[in-house]
Amino acid sequence: MTTESQSQQLNVIFLPYPAPGHMNPMVDTARLFAKHGVSVTIITTPANASTFQKAIDSDFSSGYCIRTHVIQFPTSQVGLPDGVENVKDITSREMLDKISVGISMLQDQIELLFQEMQPDCLVTDMLYPWTVESAAKLGIPRIYFYSSSYFTRCASHFIQQHKPHERLFSDNQRFSVPGLPHNIEMTTLQLEEWVRTKNDFTDHLNAIYESESRSFGTLYNSFHELEGDYEQLYESTKGVKCWSVGPVSACLNKGDEEKANRGHREELLQESEWLNWLNSKQNESVLYISFGSLIRLPHSQLLEIALGLQNSGHVFIWVIRKRNRDGDSSLQDFEQKMKESKKGCIIWNWAPQLLILDHPAIGGIVTHCGWNSILESLSAGLPMVTWPVFADQFYNEKLVVDVLKIGVPVGSKENKFWMSIGVDAAVRREDIAKAVILLMGSKESREMRRRARKLGEASKKTIEEGGSSYNNLVQLLDKLKSLKMSRALNRTN
Ligand code: UDP
Repeated sequence: MTTESQSQQLNVIFLPYPAPGHMNPMVDTARLFAKHGVSVTIITTPANASTFQKAIDSDFSSGYCIRTHVIQFPTSQVGLPDGVENVKDITSREMLDKISVGISMLQDQIELLFQEMQPDCLVTDMLYPWTVESAAKLGIPRIYFYSSSYFTRCASHFIQQHKPHERLFSDNQRFSVPGLPHNIEMTTLQLEEWVRTKNDFTDHLNAIYESESRSFGTLYNSFHELEGDYEQLYESTKGVKCWSVGPVSACLNKGDEEKANRGHREELLQESEWLNWLNSKQNESVLYISFGSLIRLPHSQLLEIALGLQNSGHVFIWVIRKRNRDGDSSLQDFEQKMKESKKGCIIWNWAPQLLILDHPAIGGIVTHCGWNSILESLSAGLPMVTWPVFADQFYNEKLVVDVLKIGVPVGSKENKFWMSIGVDAAVRREDIAKAVILLMGSKESREMRRRARKLGEASKKTIEEGGSSYNNLVQLLDKLKSLKMSRALNRTN
């Protein structure tokens, strides 16, 4: 990687949004910039910093110019318990509102930091539209960091523009998403709640998209070989410059320790029970089940999953986020039974997902279709059972099932914000068992597995020197350097 003389070195500030699905890829992207010779500062709060500081310190000791700038989160002012600064730690809508207030209270302080630090560029999460103005005041580019797929961005754009769902008789009637190169069918119920019915978030989202058009360009954690059609479609439709630099997680977290501790405060021990259990299993025989960092399913749904998994006859490792502190005692009986029969292993609350996905015993995943989980599964060459729950996840499911053809849908019907999920089970045990058997044990799934492996190989090549994601990052950095030089020239003239 390059060393730069100080006057030429780019100084870039990264501002992540405090939720793992946004923060993990941005921190990895920041580390990638540093590995390409950029001087990087990540602005964050104490509890969030503690989840990735070790990786930053290790990069710094290896000679890269990267640091965190930590500012206090106003936890007590907004009435949150100490240390609750990340959306993954909240368990109610009230807490979500408080975290949002806390985030907005930091705006002035962050603006001042931008002015003091005089960076050459801001890379900020899509959820901070106000940073467009901050960058304009400083006369520097703002790069919009998008945390989902091109496919999602295209589908949601065309749905917003043409509103095909407004011409239907029922919320379950299927419609084709206009403007896309593939025939993609959805129902109104699968669209985000803020698209189906206008609410406060609809306006916020409009401001976000408007800020995208006014930004210098957009960074995508995606790659050309994965969804090149949609990359082109988006650039040509919106006229927004996009750089695909992913999958960033595969690029950065290569060692077992890095994989185990990525995005998590407590050290997840290598010699843990689950790892010994996984080591005892045959290659590609175990199914991993995860609903990401935010979703906490109701007891009735967890029970359906337990019985569906048991009825499928396949061996599994399942990470469950507790809805309340005490967890779920009836599942503890199930856990014990699975332990004794060696059929299943449950990890409570947080799993070292990267390490698990790369383990040779893993043969597939049941995923909620969060974009990072999809990329991480792809990088491990794994096919998926798709079980979207909210936001962009239903679009991502369509990409996985209908375009890439590496997924089996479980039959999830309604897009429901994770905080509003009721007490009833949305997917029945029969459908769960059926999808698992199809993925893990059928002839049909062999082709899916082959395609997933091929994409996994492509994901590794694209981030290596000479690969398309690698080249895109180099091009972006060259562009930023030439802008920096022009600014310096303008100042001297
Ligand atoms: N993750 C993890 N362990 C868990 C749950 C989630 O490491 O137990 C990580 C996962 O690897 C991914 C991120 O958290 O990087 C979740 O992002 P994603 O986009 O998949 O879903 P979200 O949580 O935003 O719904």
